[in-house]
Amino acid sequence: MADAVPLVDVRAAYLAQQEELDAAVAGVVRSGRFIMGPEVAAFEAAFASFCGTRRAVGVASGTAAIHLALAALGVGPGDEVATVAHTFTASAEAIAHAGAGPRFVDVDEATGGMDPKALAGAIEGTAAVLPVHLYGLPVDLPAIQAVAAEAGVPVVEDAAQAHGATLTGADGQVRRAGAVGRLAAFSFYPGKNLGAFGDAGAVTTDDEELADRVARLRDHGRTSKYEHAEVGWGERLDTLQAAVLRVKLERLEAGNAARERLAGRYDEALAGVGDLVPPPRPEGRNSARHLHVVRTRHRDELLAACRAAGVGAGIHYPVPLHLQPAWRHLGLAWGDLPATEAWAAECLSLPLYPELTEPQQDRVIEVVRGFFSGR
Ligand SMILES: *Cc1c(COP(=O)(O)O)cnc(C)c1O
Repeated sequence: MADAVPLVDVRAAYLAQQEELDAAVAGVVRSGRFIMGPEVAAFEAAFASFCGTRRAVGVASGTAAIHLALAALGVGPGDEVATVAHTFTASAEAIAHAGAGPRFVDVDEATGGMDPKALAGAIEGTAAVLPVHLYGLPVDLPAIQAVAAEAGVPVVEDAAQAHGATLTGADGQVRRAGAVGRLAAFSFYPGKNLGAFGDAGAVTTDDEELADRVARLRDHGRTSKYEHAEVGWGERLDTLQAAVLRVKLERLEAGNAARERLAGRYDEALAGVGDLVPPPRPEGRNSARHLHVVRTRHRDELLAACRAAGVGAGIHYPVPLHLQPAWRHLGLAWGDLPATEAWAAECLSLPLYPELTEPQQDRVIEVVRGFFSGR
Protein backbone atom coordinates (compact mmCIF):
# COMPACT_ATOMS: atom_id res chain seq x y z
CA MET A 1 0.00 0.00 0.00
CA ALA A 2 1.25 3.50 -0.80
CA ASP A 3 2.09 5.67 2.20
CA ALA A 4 -0.67 8.05 3.27
CA VAL A 5 2.07 10.67 3.53
CA PRO A 6 5.09 9.91 1.33
CA LEU A 7 8.60 11.18 2.07
CA VAL A 8 8.63 13.01 -1.27
CA ASP A 9 6.06 13.31 -4.05
CA VAL A 10 7.59 14.12 -7.44
CA ARG A 11 4.28 13.48 -9.18
CA ALA A 12 2.66 16.32 -7.24
CA ALA A 13 5.43 18.65 -8.44
CA TYR A 14 4.75 17.60 -12.05
CA LEU A 15 1.01 18.19 -11.72
CA ALA A 16 1.65 21.72 -10.43
CA GLN A 17 3.27 22.64 -13.79
CA GLN A 18 1.80 19.95 -16.02
CA GLU A 19 0.96 22.07 -19.06
CA GLU A 20 4.30 23.88 -19.26
CA LEU A 21 6.25 20.69 -18.65
CA ASP A 22 4.33 18.74 -21.29
CA ALA A 23 4.88 21.58 -23.77
CA ALA A 24 8.62 21.72 -22.98
CA VAL A 25 9.03 17.97 -23.52
CA ALA A 26 6.97 18.02 -26.72
CA GLY A 27 8.99 20.97 -28.00
CA VAL A 28 12.26 19.05 -27.72
CA VAL A 29 10.78 15.88 -29.23
CA ARG A 30 9.37 17.84 -32.18
CA SER A 31 12.66 19.67 -32.72
CA GLY A 32 14.54 16.37 -33.03
CA ARG A 33 17.47 17.99 -31.21
CA PHE A 34 18.22 15.73 -28.29
CA ILE A 35 21.90 16.51 -27.63
CA MET A 36 23.06 19.97 -26.48
CA GLY A 37 21.70 22.93 -28.49
CA PRO A 38 19.99 26.16 -27.43
CA GLU A 39 17.77 24.51 -24.81
CA VAL A 40 20.83 23.42 -22.80
CA ALA A 41 22.49 26.83 -23.19
CA ALA A 42 19.31 28.59 -22.08
CA PHE A 43 19.03 26.47 -18.95
CA GLU A 44 22.71 26.98 -18.14
CA ALA A 45 22.30 30.76 -18.39
CA ALA A 46 19.15 30.71 -16.26
CA PHE A 47 20.71 28.51 -13.57
CA ALA A 48 23.91 30.58 -13.43
CA SER A 49 21.78 33.68 -12.99
CA PHE A 50 19.76 31.97 -10.24
CA CYS A 51 22.92 30.97 -8.35
CA GLY A 52 24.67 34.29 -8.93
CA THR A 53 27.64 32.76 -10.72
CA ARG A 54 29.20 33.68 -14.04
CA ARG A 55 28.73 30.20 -15.44
CA ALA A 56 26.75 27.00 -15.05
CA VAL A 57 27.62 23.93 -17.09
CA GLY A 58 24.95 21.25 -17.47
CA VAL A 59 26.12 17.68 -16.94
CA ALA A 60 24.64 14.18 -16.72
CA SER A 61 24.15 13.94 -12.93
CA GLY A 62 25.25 15.34 -9.59
CA THR A 63 27.86 12.62 -9.39
CA ALA A 64 29.23 13.69 -12.78
CA ALA A 65 29.19 17.31 -11.61
CA ILE A 66 31.45 16.55 -8.62
CA HIS A 67 33.70 14.35 -10.70
CA LEU A 68 34.05 16.88 -13.54
CA ALA A 69 34.62 19.81 -11.16
CA LEU A 70 37.49 17.91 -9.54
CA ALA A 71 38.87 16.75 -12.91
CA ALA A 72 38.78 20.35 -14.19
CA LEU A 73 40.94 21.36 -11.21
CA GLY A 74 43.43 18.66 -12.21
CA VAL A 75 42.62 16.34 -9.30
CA GLY A 76 43.68 12.84 -10.33
CA PRO A 77 45.40 9.58 -9.40
CA GLY A 78 47.33 9.70 -6.14
CA ASP A 79 45.43 12.73 -4.87
CA GLU A 80 43.24 12.89 -1.81
CA VAL A 81 40.17 15.09 -1.37
CA ALA A 82 38.95 16.02 2.10
CA THR A 83 35.24 15.35 2.51
CA VAL A 84 32.73 13.99 5.04
CA ALA A 85 31.38 10.50 5.65
CA HIS A 86 27.93 11.75 6.71
CA THR A 87 26.61 12.19 3.15
CA PHE A 88 25.27 10.31 0.16
CA THR A 89 27.84 7.86 -1.19
CA ALA A 90 28.22 9.81 -4.46
CA SER A 91 30.20 12.58 -2.71
CA ALA A 92 33.07 10.16 -2.14
CA GLU A 93 32.43 8.02 -5.21
CA ALA A 94 32.86 11.00 -7.53
CA ILE A 95 36.29 11.61 -5.96
CA ALA A 96 37.21 8.05 -6.92
CA HIS A 97 35.85 8.66 -10.45
CA ALA A 98 38.41 11.44 -10.76
CA GLY A 99 41.06 8.84 -9.89
CA ALA A 100 41.63 10.22 -6.38
CA GLY A 101 40.55 9.05 -2.92
CA PRO A 102 38.48 10.60 -0.13
CA ARG A 103 40.01 11.68 3.18
CA PHE A 104 37.09 11.62 5.59
CA VAL A 105 36.92 14.33 8.25
CA ASP A 106 34.34 14.50 11.02
CA VAL A 107 31.25 16.70 11.00
CA ASP A 108 30.28 19.37 13.48
CA GLU A 109 28.11 17.77 16.18
CA ALA A 110 25.58 20.63 16.24
CA THR A 111 24.97 21.10 12.50
CA GLY A 112 26.05 17.85 10.84
CA GLY A 113 28.22 19.68 8.27
CA MET A 114 32.00 19.47 7.79
CA ASP A 115 33.76 20.59 10.97
CA PRO A 116 36.29 23.34 10.09
CA LYS A 117 38.44 22.34 13.09
CA ALA A 118 38.56 18.71 11.97
CA LEU A 119 39.42 19.93 8.47
CA ALA A 120 42.28 22.05 9.81
CA GLY A 121 43.83 18.91 11.28
CA ALA A 122 43.44 16.90 8.09
CA ILE A 123 43.88 19.26 5.14
CA GLU A 124 47.67 18.95 4.85
CA GLY A 125 48.52 17.28 1.54
CA THR A 126 45.01 17.20 0.08
CA ALA A 127 44.30 18.37 -3.49
CA ALA A 128 40.81 19.78 -2.80
CA VAL A 129 38.14 20.11 -0.12
CA LEU A 130 34.60 18.91 -0.80
CA PRO A 131 32.18 20.03 1.93
CA VAL A 132 28.55 18.95 1.57
CA HIS A 133 25.56 21.25 2.20
CA LEU A 134 23.64 18.31 3.62
CA TYR A 135 19.83 18.46 3.85
CA GLY A 136 20.03 21.92 2.21
CA LEU A 137 21.85 23.60 5.13
CA PRO A 138 25.00 25.41 4.03
CA VAL A 139 28.16 24.32 5.82
CA ASP A 140 30.27 26.92 7.63
CA LEU A 141 31.95 27.95 4.37
CA PRO A 142 33.68 31.10 5.66
CA ALA A 143 35.53 28.99 8.25
CA ILE A 144 36.20 26.15 5.81
CA GLN A 145 37.48 28.58 3.20
CA ALA A 146 39.79 30.22 5.71
CA VAL A 147 41.34 26.82 6.49
CA ALA A 148 41.54 25.92 2.78
CA ALA A 149 43.02 29.29 1.76
CA GLU A 150 45.70 28.97 4.43
CA ALA A 151 46.65 25.56 2.99
CA GLY A 152 46.28 26.76 -0.62
CA VAL A 153 43.67 24.10 -1.39
CA PRO A 154 40.59 24.79 -3.58
CA VAL A 155 37.07 24.27 -2.22
CA VAL A 156 34.43 22.50 -4.32
CA GLU A 157 30.92 22.68 -2.84
CA ASP A 158 28.71 19.60 -2.99
CA ALA A 159 25.51 21.61 -3.39
CA ALA A 160 23.47 18.61 -4.60
CA GLN A 161 20.88 19.23 -1.85
CA ALA A 162 21.14 23.00 -1.57
CA HIS A 163 19.54 24.73 -4.59
CA GLY A 164 18.65 28.22 -3.39
CA ALA A 165 20.19 28.00 0.10
CA THR A 166 22.00 31.19 1.18
CA LEU A 167 24.85 32.03 3.48
CA THR A 168 26.60 35.14 4.72
CA GLY A 169 30.27 35.26 3.78
CA ALA A 170 33.20 36.57 5.82
CA ASP A 171 32.73 39.86 3.92
CA GLY A 172 29.13 40.15 5.14
CA GLN A 173 27.75 39.47 1.65
CA VAL A 174 24.86 37.05 1.29
CA ARG A 175 25.43 34.50 -1.47
CA ARG A 176 23.68 31.43 -2.72
CA ALA A 177 25.17 28.00 -2.07
CA GLY A 178 27.13 27.13 -5.20
CA ALA A 179 28.48 30.67 -5.59
CA VAL A 180 31.19 30.58 -2.93
CA GLY A 181 33.70 27.78 -3.69
CA ARG A 182 36.00 27.65 -6.75
CA LEU A 183 33.35 25.38 -8.25
CA ALA A 184 30.16 23.77 -7.02
CA ALA A 185 28.23 20.65 -8.01
CA PHE A 186 24.44 20.42 -8.21
CA SER A 187 22.24 17.36 -8.73
CA PHE A 188 18.84 17.51 -10.43
CA TYR A 189 17.89 13.96 -9.42
CA PRO A 190 14.06 13.90 -9.45
CA GLY A 191 13.63 14.21 -5.66
CA LYS A 192 15.99 17.18 -5.24
CA ASN A 193 14.60 20.73 -4.76
CA LEU A 194 15.15 21.26 -8.48
CA GLY A 195 14.46 17.86 -10.03
CA ALA A 196 14.52 16.63 -13.63
CA PHE A 197 12.61 13.71 -15.18
CA GLY A 198 15.70 11.53 -14.76
CA ASP A 199 19.39 12.10 -14.03
CA ALA A 200 20.90 15.56 -14.50
CA GLY A 201 23.34 17.94 -12.82
CA ALA A 202 25.35 21.14 -13.20
CA VAL A 203 28.68 22.67 -12.22
CA THR A 204 28.69 26.36 -11.27
CA THR A 205 31.71 28.66 -11.09
CA ASP A 206 32.85 32.24 -11.60
CA ASP A 207 36.00 31.01 -13.33
CA GLU A 208 35.52 31.04 -17.12
CA GLU A 209 38.54 28.81 -17.76
CA LEU A 210 37.36 26.14 -15.34
CA ALA A 211 33.84 26.34 -16.78
CA ASP A 212 35.20 25.86 -20.28
CA ARG A 213 37.21 22.87 -19.11
CA VAL A 214 34.17 21.26 -17.45
CA ALA A 215 32.21 21.87 -20.67
CA ARG A 216 34.97 20.18 -22.66
CA LEU A 217 35.40 17.24 -20.28
CA ARG A 218 31.66 16.45 -20.17
CA ASP A 219 31.65 16.14 -23.99
CA HIS A 220 34.54 13.82 -24.90
CA GLY A 221 37.16 16.52 -24.52
CA ARG A 222 35.70 18.14 -27.60
CA THR A 223 36.74 21.57 -28.85
CA SER A 224 34.85 21.15 -32.14
CA LYS A 225 32.89 18.31 -33.76
CA TYR A 226 35.94 16.26 -34.78
CA GLU A 227 38.58 17.76 -32.50
CA HIS A 228 39.27 16.29 -29.07
CA ALA A 229 41.73 18.33 -27.05
CA GLU A 230 41.89 15.87 -24.16
CA VAL A 231 40.38 12.60 -22.96
CA GLY A 232 36.96 13.43 -21.55
CA TRP A 233 33.71 11.65 -20.76
CA GLY A 234 30.19 11.31 -22.12
CA GLU A 235 28.53 13.21 -19.28
CA ARG A 236 26.43 15.84 -21.03
CA LEU A 237 23.13 17.20 -19.75
CA ASP A 238 20.27 15.76 -21.86
CA THR A 239 18.43 18.39 -23.89
CA LEU A 240 15.09 16.97 -22.69
CA GLN A 241 16.16 17.39 -19.07
CA ALA A 242 17.37 20.94 -19.74
CA ALA A 243 13.93 21.84 -21.13
CA VAL A 244 12.20 20.31 -18.08
CA LEU A 245 14.60 22.04 -15.68
CA ARG A 246 14.09 25.44 -17.28
CA VAL A 247 10.37 25.20 -16.53
CA LYS A 248 10.92 23.85 -13.03
CA LEU A 249 13.51 26.52 -12.18
CA GLU A 250 10.74 29.12 -12.39
CA ARG A 251 9.05 27.48 -9.42
CA LEU A 252 12.13 26.75 -7.32
CA GLU A 253 11.97 29.82 -5.10
CA ALA A 254 8.25 29.39 -4.42
CA GLY A 255 8.90 25.72 -3.67
CA ASN A 256 11.70 26.57 -1.24
CA ALA A 257 9.46 29.13 0.48
CA ALA A 258 6.78 26.46 0.91
CA ARG A 259 9.41 24.10 2.35
CA GLU A 260 10.54 26.81 4.79
CA ARG A 261 6.99 27.44 5.96
CA LEU A 262 6.37 23.71 6.49
CA ALA A 263 9.70 23.33 8.32
CA GLY A 264 8.63 26.12 10.67
CA ARG A 265 5.34 24.33 11.28
CA TYR A 266 7.18 21.13 12.19
CA ASP A 267 9.53 22.98 14.53
CA GLU A 268 6.65 24.64 16.33
CA ALA A 269 4.49 21.53 16.64
CA LEU A 270 7.35 19.26 17.73
CA ALA A 271 9.16 21.64 20.12
CA GLY A 272 9.84 19.89 23.43
CA VAL A 273 8.39 16.57 22.26
CA GLY A 274 10.37 13.66 23.73
CA ASP A 275 14.09 14.04 23.14
CA LEU A 276 13.59 15.35 19.59
CA VAL A 277 16.23 17.78 18.36
CA PRO A 278 14.98 20.03 15.53
CA PRO A 279 17.09 20.85 12.46
CA PRO A 280 19.73 23.43 13.48
CA ARG A 281 19.30 27.09 12.46
CA PRO A 282 22.83 28.51 12.65
CA GLU A 283 23.36 32.28 12.24
CA GLY A 284 23.93 33.49 8.72
CA ARG A 285 22.89 30.28 6.99
CA ASN A 286 19.50 29.68 5.38
CA SER A 287 18.67 26.10 4.49
CA ALA A 288 17.03 25.14 1.19
CA ARG A 289 15.09 22.64 3.37
CA HIS A 290 15.76 19.71 1.08
CA LEU A 291 15.11 17.29 3.95
CA HIS A 292 13.57 17.86 7.36
CA VAL A 293 15.89 15.88 9.61
CA VAL A 294 15.29 15.59 13.36
CA ARG A 295 17.42 13.69 15.85
CA THR A 296 16.35 11.29 18.60
CA ARG A 297 17.93 8.46 20.57
CA HIS A 298 14.76 6.46 19.78
CA ARG A 299 15.22 6.79 16.02
CA ASP A 300 14.65 3.18 15.01
CA GLU A 301 11.47 2.79 17.09
CA LEU A 302 10.13 6.13 15.84
CA LEU A 303 10.87 5.13 12.26
CA ALA A 304 8.97 1.86 12.78
CA ALA A 305 6.01 3.78 14.26
CA CYS A 306 5.98 6.15 11.28
CA ARG A 307 6.11 3.31 8.78
CA ALA A 308 3.30 1.43 10.57
CA ALA A 309 1.14 4.57 10.35
CA GLY A 310 1.78 5.11 6.63
CA VAL A 311 4.20 7.99 7.16
CA GLY A 312 7.11 7.74 4.74
CA ALA A 313 9.94 8.74 7.07
CA GLY A 314 13.50 7.94 5.98
CA ILE A 315 17.12 7.89 7.13
CA HIS A 316 19.77 10.02 5.45
CA TYR A 317 22.05 8.21 5.99
CA PRO A 318 22.07 5.13 8.26
CA VAL A 319 25.64 3.92 7.64
CA PRO A 320 28.41 6.54 7.40
CA LEU A 321 30.67 6.09 4.39
CA HIS A 322 33.77 5.20 6.41
CA LEU A 323 31.91 2.13 7.73
CA GLN A 324 30.62 1.02 4.30
CA PRO A 325 32.22 -2.02 2.62
CA ALA A 326 32.98 0.22 -0.39
CA TRP A 327 35.42 2.28 1.71
CA ARG A 328 36.77 -0.46 3.99
CA HIS A 329 40.18 -0.24 2.29
CA LEU A 330 40.70 3.17 3.91
CA GLY A 331 41.12 1.33 7.20
CA LEU A 332 38.77 3.47 9.30
CA ALA A 333 36.71 1.92 12.09
CA TRP A 334 33.76 2.63 14.36
CA GLY A 335 34.77 5.40 16.78
CA ASP A 336 37.03 7.22 14.31
CA LEU A 337 34.40 9.87 13.41
CA PRO A 338 32.21 10.18 16.54
CA ALA A 339 29.97 13.09 15.46
CA THR A 340 29.39 11.46 12.08
CA GLU A 341 28.43 8.21 13.78
CA ALA A 342 26.06 9.97 16.19
CA TRP A 343 24.23 11.65 13.29
CA ALA A 344 23.94 8.34 11.45
CA ALA A 345 22.49 6.67 14.55
CA GLU A 346 19.97 9.39 15.45
CA CYS A 347 18.81 11.15 12.28
CA LEU A 348 15.29 10.77 10.94
CA SER A 349 13.88 12.52 7.87
CA LEU A 350 10.22 13.53 8.05
CA PRO A 351 8.14 14.07 4.88
CA LEU A 352 8.80 17.51 3.37
CA TYR A 353 8.08 18.79 -0.13
CA PRO A 354 6.36 21.94 -1.41
CA GLU A 355 3.06 20.20 -2.19
CA LEU A 356 2.77 18.55 1.24
CA THR A 357 -0.62 19.67 2.55
CA GLU A 358 -1.23 20.86 6.12
CA PRO A 359 -3.58 17.91 6.84
CA GLN A 360 -0.85 15.53 5.63
CA GLN A 361 1.73 17.29 7.78
CA ASP A 362 -0.64 17.27 10.76
CA ARG A 363 -0.90 13.51 10.36
CA VAL A 364 2.90 13.19 10.59
CA ILE A 365 2.96 15.44 13.66
CA GLU A 366 0.20 13.38 15.29
CA VAL A 367 2.11 10.13 14.71
CA VAL A 368 5.37 11.56 16.11
CA ARG A 369 3.69 13.12 19.17
CA GLY A 370 1.71 9.92 19.73
CA PHE A 371 4.91 7.88 19.69
CA PHE A 372 6.54 9.96 22.44
CA SER A 373 3.41 10.36 24.60
CA GLY A 374 3.05 6.56 24.69
CA ARG A 375 6.55 6.08 26.12
C1 LIG B 1 22.06 13.44 -4.84
C2 LIG B 1 23.42 13.69 -4.32
C3 LIG B 1 24.58 13.49 -5.09
C4 LIG B 1 24.58 12.82 -6.41
O1 LIG B 1 23.70 13.30 -7.33
P1 LIG B 1 23.15 12.36 -8.50
O2 LIG B 1 22.46 13.34 -9.39
O3 LIG B 1 22.23 11.37 -7.89
O4 LIG B 1 24.31 11.72 -9.17
C5 LIG B 1 25.79 13.88 -4.55
N1 LIG B 1 25.88 14.39 -3.31
C6 LIG B 1 24.81 14.56 -2.53
C7 LIG B 1 24.97 15.14 -1.17
C8 LIG B 1 23.54 14.19 -3.00
O5 LIG B 1 22.48 14.33 -2.20
